[in-house]
Parts: sequence; C-alpha cells; structure tokens
Amino acid sequence: MENVLGTHGMVWTSEWTHEAWELAFQRAARAGFGLMEVPLIKPSAVDAELFKRLFLEYTMQATGSVCLTSHTDVSSEDLKIVAKGEDFLRSAVDVMHAIGGTLIGGVMYSAVQKYSGPPTRQGWNNSVRSTQALADYSKERGITIAVEIANRFETNLINTSAQAMRYLDEVDRDNVFVHIDTFHQNIEEGRPGAAVRLCGDRVGYVHVGECHRGYLGTGGVDFDDLFLALEDIRYTGPIVFESFSSTVTSPDLSAALGIWRNMWDDCEDVATHASSFIMQKIIAARQRKWVASH
Ligand code: MN
Repeated sequence: MENVLGTHGMVWTSEWTHEAWELAFQRAARAGFGLMEVPLIKPSAVDAELFKRLFLEYTMQATGSVCLTSHTDVSSEDLKIVAKGEDFLRSAVDVMHAIGGTLIGGVMYSAVQKYSGPPTRQGWNNSVRSTQALADYSKERGITIAVEIANRFETNLINTSAQAMRYLDEVDRDNVFVHIDTFHQNIEEGRPGAAVRLCGDRVGYVHVGECHRGYLGTGGVDFDDLFLALEDIRYTGPIVFESFSSTVTSPDLSAALGIWRNMWDDCEDVATHASSFIMQKIIAARQRKWVASH
C-alpha cells in the first residue's frame, strides 16, 4: 500500500492554538491517518515550530491547502490584486517550507467564490503567469503544487479535468499537478473515473469527499469508480479525507464554502469511518483488478 491516507485539518479544528492541534494530531493518528493537510487560510496564524514538532512526533506527512479571495484573486484583470495574491501564495509556501511540507493543493488560481461570468482571456493569462511564478518559487523549496478542480459555484476557471489539462499545459512546469476532488467532480463530471484517467500521471493529490461533504458512502459519489480509476493510473500519492461541519469549520471558511449545516458532530467518528471506508475501497478495487486480469 503506497498511498498515504490523510485528513484535512478542518475535520478536527479551526482554532490555531497549541491545544487544538495537539488534540487534532492525536485523534487523526488514532483514526489511522498518516498525513495532515494544514489549511493555509491565514499563513501568519500558523505556528511553524509547533507544526514541525507535531509532524515529527506523529510521523505524519505534511501538506497544505490554499484558497484565494476577491482581494487576492490572481485571475483578476487588476494587477494590484494579482500581486496581492502572489504575495499571499508565497507566504503560504514559506510556511509549508518551514513546517517541512512537500505539497500545496487547493484553489491557488482564482478566488473561491461565485463569479458572475467566465474568466476573461486576460484573467486566465494572469492566473497562468501567477501559477508559473508560484511553481518556480515552490520548486526552490522542494514543494509541489496541485491545482484543484473545483465546481462552478466556487470558481469559473477550472471546473473540469479537461480544463485542468489545458491549464497545466499552459503553465508548463514539472512540479505542477492536478488535485482531484470527488465533491467537485460529483457536480461537474459525474462519475469520477473518467476524469482521473484523463489526467493520468498528472494527478498529484486526491480529496475524497461526499456530495454533501458528510459521511463517505451516504451520498451520491461513485467511490468504486474513483478507486478503480486510481488503480488504473497507478496513483501512489496522498488520498485525503475532506469533510466539513459547522461544528468545526471557522466562520470565514463556512461562508466561502457554504457550510450552513452540521453533517456530523463527532469528528473522531466521521474520520474513523472515513479511513476504514477508504481502505476497504482501495482493497476492493485491487481485488477487482486482480480478478479481471486472471
Ligand atoms: Mn477539496
């Protein structure tokens, strides 16, 4: 088993205190996870020394995720806003580097918001240039970038795997990959397998989330299709459980992602369920492949 199982930090907490994260790591390790994704919403709030220690102590892999706002939107036509976004992204890379992390995923190419139209040519180009600069800055620090395909209500730039491929072609950097997320794909591409196969060896990060962002297997996402496709492309990267409930999520992230109701109250229960669900699906996909080839 080469894939490391991870969880998004906001499954556990949205506080930035030592106590909250100590408990988050403890619980995540107990639930069977070997990777913690640090949401770099406000990089300055992250105590790099604390996280460095926690990652070593719990022998977990470190990744981070970002999302931009209208004030830091690198797909803006306003170059002042683009520059602000680039500053923000560099600070996120600096924090990841200080923690000892190796990958940043998420929406680093536009704001996470409902746009009122598709991107302009200039907006797309500004975004591509920004991601090129981010990739170069990250490469010097040993960090990979994974561009998350997100649904139409949260971005207008990369909603499908085909758009992600076009974006990666234009960015043209060897440390930039695709970040797959089943929650978003459920809206835009239906069955996730075809999208995964289209991206192939350019898939660098995977978020596993249900269509309502709650317990895995209780919604409409075709996880059998996803895990079979990940087997087909021989994906060996992280598989990260992402789920949000208003019991944990911070008000600003709740507002950006539309987390208006509780999908769960007990983070340990939802996460323990997720880790065994994911393991079972991986094993089932391998068995199906083995049976098919014999
Ligand atoms: Mn995601």
